[in-house]
Amino acid sequence: MKTLYKIIFFTFLFNSAFAQQEKYSRVKVWLTNKNITELASLGIDVTEGDHRPGVWFITEMSQSELNRLKQASFKTDVIVDDVKAFRIQQKPSPKRTAAFPCATSSAPDYPQPQNFTLGSMGGFFTYQEMLDMLDSMASKYPNLITVKQPINALTTNDGNQLLWVKISDNPNTNETEPEVLYSALHHAREPAGLSNLIYYMWYLLENYSTITEIQSLVDNTEMYFVPCVNPDGYQYNELTDPLGGGFWRKNRLDNLDGTFGVDPNRNYGYNWGFDDTGSSPFTGDETYRGTNPFSEVENQTMQDFCNAHEFKLAFNYHTFGNLLIYPWGYIPDFYTPDSALLVNYGSL
Ligand SMILES: [Zn+2]
Repeated sequence: MKTLYKIIFFTFLFNSAFAQQEKYSRVKVWLTNKNITELASLGIDVTEGDHRPGVWFITEMSQSELNRLKQASFKTDVIVDDVKAFRIQQKPSPKRTAAFPCATSSAPDYPQPQNFTLGSMGGFFTYQEMLDMLDSMASKYPNLITVKQPINALTTNDGNQLLWVKISDNPNTNETEPEVLYSALHHAREPAGLSNLIYYMWYLLENYSTITEIQSLVDNTEMYFVPCVNPDGYQYNELTDPLGGGFWRKNRLDNLDGTFGVDPNRNYGYNWGFDDTGSSPFTGDETYRGTNPFSEVENQTMQDFCNAHEFKLAFNYHTFGNLLIYPWGYIPDFYTPDSALLVNYGSL
């Protein structure tokens, strides 16, 4: 009887896991007679995608989101009907592993780090492959990078801890150098952010002894990395879509109403829930902000990490859009005391 119970329970989990999976399409949403704010109010993340203001916004969305747009009289064109199938079909090619050419021809062509390889999940790393990469870095370059360690004792809904490493000269010593934070995978379905970070980390480590600019950076800053802010969501995609293309975005909190997940990128405290366009109060939405600011372990942990350091600059890697987005995000007026500096960085 006990075994039967377990089987039924497992089957339920299995079904509920796959019941979450919808077809996702890449969609062009026309904005010629609609406002993008109205699109945001429907629970769509309008910061992630390709935006031609006043003309269109291209992003990827579920069928239920697409239906919601149609009901709100948005004109839409489906560009790729089934993005997951499209991605799986796009097997990583040797050409794609050979170089990551920059978008502009004036940018230098950075040679691929020798230790950088593609992962097994449609070219992206599984969670374990990411852990192995971090271990490999620490083993090959113990004088430049720490071993991975948890930020605090908190564990996520699925029992994970958020891990960090530091790249610097004397990485195991706390020196009085400016601190910088790099993070990826707030959103579980954006594995290219992790690949970018891993690539960059190998690039720093491998070129430290030969490129003076890299040496100067590493010697004079303390670079902290949290490569996976949302380990539950990331591993959930791995479970449902081991070949890649999993579309889960949020964490895996059971909202106890048949829906799962809070958007960790909408759960930080500053002006949390400012309005219902940048984040959603509805549990099933992709931009659901949670019940309270910092209600989520992932955000509490990042808060602990920031409180324990004095980061001069923080980069959170997302996809897609080829954009460098700087604060503020919760109001259209983006000016902050640091805006001029950030604009300058963005133009370099
Ligand atoms: Zn994102």
